[in-house]
Amino acid sequence: MKLEFDLAIVGGGIVGSAVGYGLAKAGKRVIIIDGADHALRASRTNGGLVWVQGKGANFPAYQRLTRQSADMWAGLAAELRELTNIDMEYRRSGGMIFCLSADQLETQRATAEKMARAHPDYQFEICDRTRFEKMLPGIRLGPKVCGGLFSPMDGHVNPLLMLRALVDAFVLSGGKLVTGQKVRSIAPSEGAYRLTADQMTVSAERVLIAAGNDSAEFAESLDLPLKLTPERGQIMVTERVAPLFPYASNGLRQHVTGTFQLGVTHEKVGRSVDVTSNGANYIAKRVMSIMPDLANLRVVRQWAGLRVLTPDGYPIVDRSRSYAGVHFIACHSGVTLVAFHAGPFAKWLAEGAPGNPYADFSGSRFDIGVAA
Ligand SMILES: Cc1cc2nc3c(=O)[nH]c(=O)nc-3n(C[C@H](O)[C@H](O)[C@H](O)COP(=O)(O)OP(=O)(O)OC[C@H]3O[C@@H](n4cnc5c(N)ncnc54)[C@H](O)[C@@H]3O)c2cc1C
Repeated sequence: MKLEFDLAIVGGGIVGSAVGYGLAKAGKRVIIIDGADHALRASRTNGGLVWVQGKGANFPAYQRLTRQSADMWAGLAAELRELTNIDMEYRRSGGMIFCLSADQLETQRATAEKMARAHPDYQFEICDRTRFEKMLPGIRLGPKVCGGLFSPMDGHVNPLLMLRALVDAFVLSGGKLVTGQKVRSIAPSEGAYRLTADQMTVSAERVLIAAGNDSAEFAESLDLPLKLTPERGQIMVTERVAPLFPYASNGLRQHVTGTFQLGVTHEKVGRSVDVTSNGANYIAKRVMSIMPDLANLRVVRQWAGLRVLTPDGYPIVDRSRSYAGVHFIACHSGVTLVAFHAGPFAKWLAEGAPGNPYADFSGSRFDIGVAA
C-alpha cells in the first residue's frame, strides 16, 4: 500500500490543529480530517483563558505541563503572527481570582501554597481588597469582595482568532486540511492505518485522534483507554465599553474589543448545548457580586459548549493498547495547552514517539479497560 501520509489527525479543533501545525512544521506529511458543522466543538465555545492558577494543585505533572505551555505561549503567538499575519490578541496580563468570603480566600491561599511547594518558582500574591482596588482604579468592587489571588503567570487570548491562526499555519506549513468529513472507521491495514470518512479514504502510517468529546466513539474499536464525561459551560458577552479591566480572571474578562465576557457554568447535562435562563441568572449573580456596575451593560450574546472532560479533569495523552500507531489526546484547557501540543508533543510524535514521556497522563490511571 502506498502511504499517503505520515500522520492522519482526526479532528481539527485546537488540539488537532496545534499538533498538526507542529508536525507539518517538522516536515511530516500530515492530513487533518475534520467533521461536520454541527459537530461538538469546544474550540469554538471556550473562554480563551491561558490559565495557570490552581492547575494541577493535586497533580504536579499537570502543573508542570500547564506551566511549560503557558511559558511557551508568547513565543507561539509571535510565531503564528509572523506566519499568518493574525494577531490572536494574546496578553500575559496576569490573572485575578476574586474571593467573596474569608473561607474562600483561605482555600485559595492553601491551593496556591501547595502549588508553590511542588514548584517553588510558582508566582502568586495574596491580595486584600485594598490591593485589588488599587490595581483596578476604574472599577467598583462588590461589598463582599474581600480580596483574592493574583498571578502574573495567567493570560488570555481571542480563541477564535487562535483557531484560525493554527489552521492557517498548518496549511501554510504544507499540511492538508479536509473539512466536513466525519471519519467513520480507522482500521489497521498492511502495517499502517486506513481511515474511512464520509466521502474519502486515506492511508497513514500513524493516527492521532483529537476529536474532542467524539474521540470516545473510537474507544472500543481501537482499544483506547478513554472515558469522557462532558460538562456544559455557558458564557455571556456584553456590549462594548471603554477598557476597564486589563487582567484575566476565571469567569470574567474584558476582550480587546471592549466587550465583557461573563461566565461560566459547570453542568452535567449529557450532550445538550442549549443556553438557559438559569445559566444566565447564575452567571449574572456571580459577576454582579464582584463588579456590580456590569449590571448596567446589555448582554448581546450567550452560548454554551461542552468541556472535553476526563473523570479526574486532567488530560489523557496516550495510545491504543492494541495498535501502537494510534495516539489520542483528550483534554480540557486545550487553549492553555496549545503551545505544548504544537511544540514538545508534536516534536515527540514527529520523532516517532520514542519512550513514554507522558505516562503520567495515561488513561490507564482510571483502570478502565474496553469493558468499562
Ligand atoms: C465553555 C467552555 C469554556 C472553556 N474555557 C477554556 C479556557 O478558558 N481555557 C482553556 O484552556 N480551555 C477552555 N476550554 C476547553 C477547551 O475549549 C478545550 O479543551 C478544547 O477546545 C478541546 O479541543 P479539541 O480540539 O480537543 O476538541 P473540539 O474543539 O471539540 O474539536 C474536536 C473536533 O473533532 C471533530 N470531530 C469529531 N469527531 C470526528 C470524526 N469522527 N471525524 C472527523 N472529525 C471529527 C469535530 O468536528 C471538532 O472540530 C473551555 C471549554 C468550554 C466548553
